[in-house]
Amino acid sequence: MATYEYHCPDCGRFDVHLPIGTATPVCDCPACHGPSRRVFSSPYLSRVPAAVAAGLAREERSQEAPEVVTDLPPRRRRRRPHPALARLPRP
Ligand SMILES: [Zn+2]
Repeated sequence: MATYEYHCPDCGRFDVHLPIGTATPVCDCPACHGPSRRVFSSPYLSRVPAAVAAGLAREERSQEAPEVVTDLPPRRRRRRPHPALARLPRP
């Protein structure tokens, strides 16, 4: 299912959920049942997980001004193993 956006001249914009490729240029308004024209808008990017959106934004920024690394990344601290793992038999 895809979300298509329509604009009613009397009621404003509304969404219609239809299978992909089945949207028509004109749809009846759910409130006044008048003819409404389809509106093309940006996709719902807010539904993209935050980590993915941040990665896409970083990739887009790096096209014009790539990040320059001058230092090594900081060393990661080793985590202490879970106490239950200490009780396991050793080979
Ligand atoms: Zn309407």
